Amino acid sequence: MNTPRKAPGRTGDRAPAQNAQAGSDSALLAALSLDDKVRLLTGADNWRTCPLPAIGLRAMVVSDGPAGVRGITMDERNPAASLPCPSALGATWDPALVQALAAALGTEARSKGVDVLLAPTINVMRTPLSGRGFESFGEDPVLIGRMAVAFVRGLHQAGAAAAVKHYVGNDSETGRWTYDARIAEHVLRELYLVPFEACVREADVDLVMTGYNMVNGVTMTEHGHLLGRVLKDEWGFGGVALSDWHAARSTVATAVAGLDLAMPGPDGPWGGQLVAAVRAGQVSEAAVDDKVRRVLRLARRVGALDRAPVPDPAPDRGTPNGRGRGAPVLADPVLLRRCAAAAFTLLRNEREALPLDPGTVRSVAVIGPNAVSPVTQGGGSATVPQVSVSTPAAALTQALAGLDPQARVTVRPGCATWTIVPEPPRYALRDPDTGQPGVRIEFRTDDGALAAAEHRTATMFTWWDGLPAGIGRGGRGRIVLRTCFLPGRGGPHVIGAGGVGRLTLTVNGTEVAAGRTDTPADPVEAMVRPGEIRTTVDLAAGREAEVAVSLRPDDWPQGPVAIRLGLVPAPDDDQMLAEAVEAARAADAAVVVVVGSAPAAESEGFDRPGLALPGLEDELVRRVAAVNDRTVVVVNAGMPVLMPWADQVAAVGYAWLPGQAMGAALADVLLGQAEPGGRLPVTLPATEADCPVLHAVPAAGRLEYREGLLVGYRGYDRAGTKPRFPFGHGLGYTTWAYESAAADAPALAPGEDLGVTVVVRNTGPRTGREVVQAYLEPPAADPGRPVRALAAFAAVTAAPGKQAEARLAVPARAFARYDEAARGWARPSGEFTVRIGRSSADLPLHLRVKSL
Ligand code: BGC
Repeated sequence: MNTPRKAPGRTGDRAPAQNAQAGSDSALLAALSLDDKVRLLTGADNWRTCPLPAIGLRAMVVSDGPAGVRGITMDERNPAASLPCPSALGATWDPALVQALAAALGTEARSKGVDVLLAPTINVMRTPLSGRGFESFGEDPVLIGRMAVAFVRGLHQAGAAAAVKHYVGNDSETGRWTYDARIAEHVLRELYLVPFEACVREADVDLVMTGYNMVNGVTMTEHGHLLGRVLKDEWGFGGVALSDWHAARSTVATAVAGLDLAMPGPDGPWGGQLVAAVRAGQVSEAAVDDKVRRVLRLARRVGALDRAPVPDPAPDRGTPNGRGRGAPVLADPVLLRRCAAAAFTLLRNEREALPLDPGTVRSVAVIGPNAVSPVTQGGGSATVPQVSVSTPAAALTQALAGLDPQARVTVRPGCATWTIVPEPPRYALRDPDTGQPGVRIEFRTDDGALAAAEHRTATMFTWWDGLPAGIGRGGRGRIVLRTCFLPGRGGPHVIGAGGVGRLTLTVNGTEVAAGRTDTPADPVEAMVRPGEIRTTVDLAAGREAEVAVSLRPDDWPQGPVAIRLGLVPAPDDDQMLAEAVEAARAADAAVVVVVGSAPAAESEGFDRPGLALPGLEDELVRRVAAVNDRTVVVVNAGMPVLMPWADQVAAVGYAWLPGQAMGAALADVLLGQAEPGGRLPVTLPATEADCPVLHAVPAAGRLEYREGLLVGYRGYDRAGTKPRFPFGHGLGYTTWAYESAAADAPALAPGEDLGVTVVVRNTGPRTGREVVQAYLEPPAADPGRPVRALAAFAAVTAAPGKQAEARLAVPARAFARYDEAARGWARPSGEFTVRIGRSSADLPLHLRVKSL
């Protein structure tokens, strides 16, 4: 079922309206010259499609996605609501909540003049090392599919279009522009294509973004089989197949294969070259017409042919509300907080360490680098300029003080984990020229003349569409970031200057470092962790120092230009550790340790080198736990990390990368005002060696998906390996008994779905929510196939002592497998077992169904 949109151009009665639209699109098409048609098929710039005023078509604006609506600039003056990352949303196992959140995101997009959100990311977490895994909903295609369909419907509901990405096999970052993912056809069909198929068939998604990579020897933008035959012919996709940014690298092969829109523009392999290819008979005009029809269909759906006024996606700088067309409607912070709590996954809770008892919480230690400087979002195109961030340290301090004004909270970072120098706090900075809080950015020509300048409040800047007055490209001119920094304490400070090109760093007018940084392997790295020159200087407490970073950017056509300032007191790990242990010893009520990813460690553009926590975090947890047996560890990471100390602490929870509401949501959960709603969307391994797929480094350009279907829990089950915490696992604040399960029918005819009713009882002291999961085992074991696979899930809530009935719908497809020889789906006959429970490793009930 499709959710109708309230957008301009989208009305309730879809079929007749669509026919009429198709008719008028044909009339529009007939009025276009070949040049005009082809013009519509390449972006006008990085984030806009080409307008064609002659037919009343305005430019359509696209924006990343998926954890917020960044808009067409990365600019702190145009902030965005920052959502829990998609792995956190996967952890909610709550499609209705995800749909509500996506609807709020869609509303924000429309209010910012954005038509298309480049989201959701629906690739599979094949390896826990994937840098971009945080952008996916999980390791299981059924879970991803349910979340993705809900996400797309939510965007549609708000009148925004969704672009699901990255089609397909784009499951890791190392060499992502070129690697050849070698995936058997049945594995594609039964695993990697499943979420895409669901979004096309069930949610009528408007766009599918093709990845950079190859699959089985053909690059995805040229993949006639996967783009043309599977996506369009078989699934009936009527929307736009757009390229990932700069992924279209040929003229004829992409055009013929079924790519419809090459992004970004205005350059690219189509344009005049495609016109010539049509004239030379290499590409039919009918193929071009088909692409144009798809673009026009999208335009109608988002109202780009309505001639209605739209908000300006690049409002005047310095006027937060833009040009008076109304302030952006950012997603509701209360909803973001609720989602972050719903995603919090409680993995271990010995002696009911959690929730903390508000009546007895007098002195608490809040420890860990991520308690003070949390990582709330992943790096790369998913990053948004945040409105604000609630840190665990600040939010817990405030929440505890609210409960008991006598409560004593001690905050200690415990260790430092950064690999690029952290940005200084904004309150310590002053624009040297105006005196306002913040920095001054200057654009200077080669002779040093000031071409433009602006006051800003950030310390990291990215430009995609060039710099003012032509500065930057081709070795012309410099960008200078200047600020007066007021040290809170005296002593050695580490200062880092980041950017791609030639950098100099001065303090109080004296050059303290200079050098050239390398061009990173992937353009996205330039905006996440650009190369850095670094030095240590002594600063006196309370005495301002003027710091300036100057960057002469390298000429790098596809890369963004970025400049960054880092500045922190030089860390002393021994002292930090000792202070944390002391605070833990002195805390009588509890210790909350927040550890996790280092800044810029989880990102698009590169994979992680390993699963261990960074720096001294493991040591910190062990030392703290040794002096306080009420130690609660919160992991702040978008993907799995190793937790060798898990059995030595009272409680462990996963907060993911929870977006702006992190601290507030964490306080809600730890103090029992919200249920920890999460269930693992990905297996957490005990050791790296246990992972079914660990590395994703192409060998001679190839990534062999040798594990076939045995990804994630399917691989653990087949190998008989016990993970640290299994897929689907997560505790609430109550307990459940699984009482009975019944199938609607004892036998199934081909093509039939199966309904299952499961009765559970809340056996604990609080009202709670339980996610009931059903896994299907085929009639005959096959070592190459999963022992069992998730087939359906449903959540119920019940008051203490009460029963609840979960209705699970197992789709016919769950019983089928793809037969490569017959090129179709086939259902094995025999007896299937449906196992039911609370995780892939805790399945107390089962029933059997005959497949006829
Ligand atoms: C990413 C896409 C993103 C696009 C535009 C690419 O590098 O892979 O996910 O939507 O850039 O930012």
